[in-house]
Amino acid sequence: MTATVPPSVPTPVSTPTTAPLDFNAMLSDRARKMTASAIREILKITQEPDVISFAGGLPAPELFPLNDVRAAMEAVMTRYGAAALQYSTTEGHLPLRQFLAEMAGITPEHVQIMTGSQQGLDLMGKILISEGDIVLVESPTYLGALQSFQPYGPQYMEMPTDEEGIDIDALEALLQELKAGGKRAKLLYAIPNFQNPTGRTLSKERRERLVHLTAEHGLLVIEDDPYGKLRFTGEPAPSLYQIALDRVGGNPDHSHIIYSGSFSKTLVPGLRDAWVQAAKPIIEKLVQAKQGADLHTPTLNQMIVTELLPTVLPRQIELIRKAYGERAQDMIRHIKAQFPAGVHHTVPQGGMFLWVTLPEGVDTIPMLARAVERKVAFVPGAPFFALGGGQNTMRLSYSNATPQQIERGIKALAETISEVVN
Ligand code: PMP
Repeated sequence: MTATVPPSVPTPVSTPTTAPLDFNAMLSDRARKMTASAIREILKITQEPDVISFAGGLPAPELFPLNDVRAAMEAVMTRYGAAALQYSTTEGHLPLRQFLAEMAGITPEHVQIMTGSQQGLDLMGKILISEGDIVLVESPTYLGALQSFQPYGPQYMEMPTDEEGIDIDALEALLQELKAGGKRAKLLYAIPNFQNPTGRTLSKERRERLVHLTAEHGLLVIEDDPYGKLRFTGEPAPSLYQIALDRVGGNPDHSHIIYSGSFSKTLVPGLRDAWVQAAKPIIEKLVQAKQGADLHTPTLNQMIVTELLPTVLPRQIELIRKAYGERAQDMIRHIKAQFPAGVHHTVPQGGMFLWVTLPEGVDTIPMLARAVERKVAFVPGAPFFALGGGQNTMRLSYSNATPQQIERGIKALAETISEVVN
């Protein structure tokens, strides 16, 4: 009997050769599902110094607490010595977990430190998504989450959204329809605060309904909240995690919400410090997955962040909220004055982004090249849609631009848009 050769493995060639292996043929099925982000390729051209970029989701570097980070590093090196540079536990630096647990009204065993919340998304995909599992995502949603989940083979279903975030009536109808068809969604992924890419915020009433509805239908929910502290207008709404915790009498092991937080937007992104709050069985699996990924988040970075928690973090949050609030207001003022009629935009209450919708039929991907000729860049919206569409949309980031850049950039963008919309 001859052994069958799997189609992805090339048949060995018996003659000696110096030709390289067919590397593509060696890739796993999982790797084949990873796609290069078309956006990243386009955005490379926007990184020239004279291009005003509203494209990258970058925090404002001039607001980074450089001296505080330097002082915190000195302090922890003195206090911990070699331990600051040694391997440490996968779960994370205990004082950091204790602080986060206290903020959330839970205990540290429900908190796992992550190397950026992006790692949390990847590891949650790894431990939760089997091939074909139905995963509900907002329409549009964070591109990086789609990238993280994609290799694990989800079947995406989109939840429609409007100005108040996810349309809960539509979600309810979707869940009923699935149930009637004998199917069930496994996971719902949402960004309730100042969403990336739209800047929209889920209203309090909808949060309550979302938590109860998903509990009734037995879904897990990932609440991705890197921007929650950056509210510059309006009333704060409780997190899904908090609502769920109240619903189950404060027992984190009975909560179906997995909360993902990050210090990237409130302190600095480069330290790659973030965390996940969840029921113990989820945390235990995440610990195992993280051991395979990177053993632990850098010890020194966690210690630096911990040092910054009591005074620098609250001060930074105030500083950033004020700055981003002004920048958002500025951008909106220029948009209103300059963009042609028929172009709509969101009005964020916090965070770093706003979302522009052009008339149907307009495609923002070819428009980007025209905008870059005018020295301004944005992110075309289409890749943020799990199931396609959204060609007539774009994301603008105001977090990393001066008033002059906002004025000049929006003027150049308005001229670009006016070439096709009038
Ligand atoms: N989630 C969302 C919604 C984001 O916008 C980002 C960053 N752009 C991340 C997660 C990842 O952030 P980090 O890994 O820096 O915590």
